[in-house]
Amino acid sequence: MTGEFELIDHIRQMAADAHEGVVLGIGDDGAVLRPLAGHDLVATADTLNAGVHFTAETSAADIGHKALAVNLSDLAAMGATPRWALLSVSLSAEDSAWLNGFVGGFLSLAGDFGLALVGGDTCAGDLSLAVTALGEVPAGKALTRGGAKPGDLVVVSGCLGDAALALADRSAGTIPGEFQSLALDRPIPRVALGVSLIGKATSCIDISDGLLADLGHIAKASGCGSEIELSLLPTSESLSQREDRQRWNLQLAGGDDYELCFTISPGLEDQLTAMSERLDVPLTVIGKMVEASGVRCMAPDGGVFQPTRSGYEHFK
Ligand code: ADP
Ligand code: MG
Repeated sequence: MTGEFELIDHIRQMAADAHEGVVLGIGDDGAVLRPLAGHDLVATADTLNAGVHFTAETSAADIGHKALAVNLSDLAAMGATPRWALLSVSLSAEDSAWLNGFVGGFLSLAGDFGLALVGGDTCAGDLSLAVTALGEVPAGKALTRGGAKPGDLVVVSGCLGDAALALADRSAGTIPGEFQSLALDRPIPRVALGVSLIGKATSCIDISDGLLADLGHIAKASGCGSEIELSLLPTSESLSQREDRQRWNLQLAGGDDYELCFTISPGLEDQLTAMSERLDVPLTVIGKMVEASGVRCMAPDGGVFQPTRSGYEHFK
């Protein structure tokens, strides 16, 4: 039987690579980190709980990937470069095989972004994974939800609704397409895009709870509103074959997209095209910010579409 300290030691060995800025990593009472001069630290935390954020069928490696990915998506939305993370694990029983798979998935994504695992906590309890991620942004330059102005263009990266489609398919007992499964289990945070938006986007958020809710946060924080065209929503091949209302519900309120939604001043379309080509990330203008508060979704027939729910919200 492996105890807490052996488990931690195992994680420490898996995470042993040297990283810049880590004065002291896993093993003491706290990590000692040295931020770059002239930068602000951006800190974010997200938890994944069994039964709420993933099902029993989800592989340990997928959960490890996603536990970090959702945090890196928040850093991306702030324009921050990921540097360090802390990982708190609650496990109902000692399970080295599961932990190996989980930490493997976590560290594989961490390696892609040069991020170091520098500490955490390991204890017994219902399966729960809590990650704190730290990133850096040039001082005073972090992207925020506030700052959009009426007339600004609303842009989203990638496609919307595919993770929600995968979840809907699985709940209905059908096997989702590969693109949809990857969107749900292996989201790739838009880190390079977030960094490139510094000094260009007037506001930014990551779409975790659904476009309507998250664009609503930008509108509220910016003291204005938004109007989007449903015909412009970036849509995958599989989703385009679904009936319009089902598709819009998934794209507006399905959640789990981990794309960025941001605003830019009008007239910057050429820069947007250049950025999309340079980063190889689809960027689509879906509407604009307006004076009137709230988010209005215009259907192709000119009517306003109201999704059946507004987005994912715990305790509701
Ligand atoms: P303490 O009792 O002082 O909180 P712990 O025994 O919990 O210390 O942790 C020892 C060291 O191992 C600390 O540096 C801590 O950050 C690290 N650690 C514990 N659990 C994890 C984990 N799941 N992932 C990464 N580091 C961890
Ligand atoms: Mg502890």
